[in-house]
Amino acid sequence: MIMKKIGILGGTFDPVHAGHIRVAEEAMQALALDEVIFMVSGTPHYKVGMRKVSSKEDRLAMTELAIKDHPAFSVSDLECRREGNTYTADTLQELKKQMPENEYYLLIGADAFFHMIHWYRIEAVMANAIVAVVMRGKELNSEQAASVQKELIDKYGGMVVSFEMKPMEVSSTEVREKIRTGGDVHGLVTEDVEAYIQKRSLYREV
Ligand code: ATP
Repeated sequence: MIMKKIGILGGTFDPVHAGHIRVAEEAMQALALDEVIFMVSGTPHYKVGMRKVSSKEDRLAMTELAIKDHPAFSVSDLECRREGNTYTADTLQELKKQMPENEYYLLIGADAFFHMIHWYRIEAVMANAIVAVVMRGKELNSEQAASVQKELIDKYGGMVVSFEMKPMEVSSTEVREKIRTGGDVHGLVTEDVEAYIQKRSLYREV
């Protein structure tokens, strides 16, 4: 069987935006990946902050629309199909079980990386994927990153790599806020995603 290098970009994707696409593209280049899977998280039963997260069906549909012109990108509903809480450790273990020949790269922002040591079953994360830390400039603190990396590898083994990308200042929060207040989201989400948001009347309320 042929070994593939596959990036995993996990997120709520509520909605998927140009920053997500950019990370996936930059990771492909920097890490010489064959594919990137957009791993859409399940819908929490509780509200996140003040707001209700959009349904998994809507978030999956928008992510499919956003990547349709990228042959190396795909969307997974693995976490959406799982009952209860979803943990990255379980997801990576499942992927590795299905396709043991592949090498998985968990794409993760520097901010989240600094907290990884506290993750649920971090040993399973380290055993089943290479951690690929996305450095977006502003949070660049190589000393801190090096010490977290050392602690992780000393305790659990595995591998950590990092790459730098030009930051793209956009978030799902900003897109939702713009939609709600009638602002322009051109360039922040694809036209198909914008049309989907309109059709389904998403993000009209806080
Ligand atoms: P929200 O604003 O609702 O918190 P978000 O824009 O951060 O959402 P998520 O779905 O939580 O979107 O993000 C999924 C992953 O993409 C996370 O690892 C996050 O760090 C990363 N990401 C989000 N926006 C950007 C961006 N502009 N540039 C690079 N990475 C990003």
